[in-house]
Amino acid sequence: MKLSKLANEIAESPTLALNEEARLLRERGEAVIHLGIGEPKNKTPLNAILASAAKLTSGEVKYTPADGMPALKKAVIRYTEENYNRLVAPENVLITNGAKQSIFNILYSILNPQDEVIVLAPYWVSYPEMIKMCYGKPIIVTPGNGTFTPNFEEIEHAITSYTRAIIVNSPNNPSGVIYPPELIGKLVEFCERKGLYLICDDIYHKLVFEHKVAHPAFEFTGKAVEDSHIIVVNGVAKVYGMTGFRVGWVVAPRELIRVMTNVTAQTTSGVSPVSQAAAEGALNGLQTVVEALRLQLENNRTVLLQEMKTFNGARLIPPEGTFYAFPDLRAFGSSSVELSKFLLKKALVVTVPGKEFGMEGFIRLSISGTVKDVTDGIARIKWALDQTSPNEIYIGDKKMIRDWM
Ligand code: PMP
Repeated sequence: MKLSKLANEIAESPTLALNEEARLLRERGEAVIHLGIGEPKNKTPLNAILASAAKLTSGEVKYTPADGMPALKKAVIRYTEENYNRLVAPENVLITNGAKQSIFNILYSILNPQDEVIVLAPYWVSYPEMIKMCYGKPIIVTPGNGTFTPNFEEIEHAITSYTRAIIVNSPNNPSGVIYPPELIGKLVEFCERKGLYLICDDIYHKLVFEHKVAHPAFEFTGKAVEDSHIIVVNGVAKVYGMTGFRVGWVVAPRELIRVMTNVTAQTTSGVSPVSQAAAEGALNGLQTVVEALRLQLENNRTVLLQEMKTFNGARLIPPEGTFYAFPDLRAFGSSSVELSKFLLKKALVVTVPGKEFGMEGFIRLSISGTVKDVTDGIARIKWALDQTSPNEIYIGDKKMIRDWM
């Protein structure tokens, strides 16, 4: 079959592949623990349910303006004022099918073939693939051994005349780190000076622990959104646990939003009004749901850190936000893909190999499930890898004995 060379080269989403493998194992009755998941376990906030149900029962489910329903844009404008201290116009906002489409659309709208985008490792798996889909070149900058915080001088060093943008994701998927405010400040100043876009993927910005703050890039410039090089991406997927509604948004200068709106109009025609109503309901509804989710994740994180203390050979930089942890397991082998496969086969725990995030020897664990998922999941991983841990364990109702070391 003749296929596009470019499309054919795009990698399969590793999390979706793992989900499928876990589903098949579960179907066979295996007691799989899924620490690969990228979504919180909460129920949809009530205000979101009511707003989307009202839209649905009105029977008026038609095309909306391609850039989004005015009422949702209004809610995003308020959110931007509250969280970013910037007053923006409806022309500065585009509603998209998830933050994922926001990022793709931005890249599509700013890149010419061969243009380069700086991606900071460890990075969210989709950035390099999306850049390639837009005929651009991802340039990966990896921090020095033992940290997840990029070095500003190394970023500066990676810039060429083809560089168009830097993508920043803080709190970071997969490491959970929040970049220090000094770094964000330097990046803002640098991008403004060089005329580069600073794409801020803020999708986890409220899921932070121990009173840490993810400082938004706008804190470091006096410029209005209209005159700035900062592009903000956000959405309801993570902070409200509304992954299935597929609603994200972009806040950017009007000219970029105008082009992105045309791209939207010619591709998807915009987001389902049922989903947009749900997002509006969430943004305008009771915000205690966000704090409840954050607290549950913070509790899971405490459990994770406790369990990891007795994991000999593993090194973990405690996550400061998100619902991921990214332990360094290089002591147990250099291939994270092999390690993840081994953990699924022996311990029935789904993890995501660090290689997918640009860091070999690490694996990503999601702590978005129950406390029991976290406790049992880590216990199983310790049992499979750490020879100082007890060599017997129950997996489901089967007693397992470690016989490979
Ligand atoms: N950015 C990051 C860093 C993410 O982790 C995710 C979801 N895994 C997204 C964007 C996409 O979010 P959405 O579901 O809104 O498309």
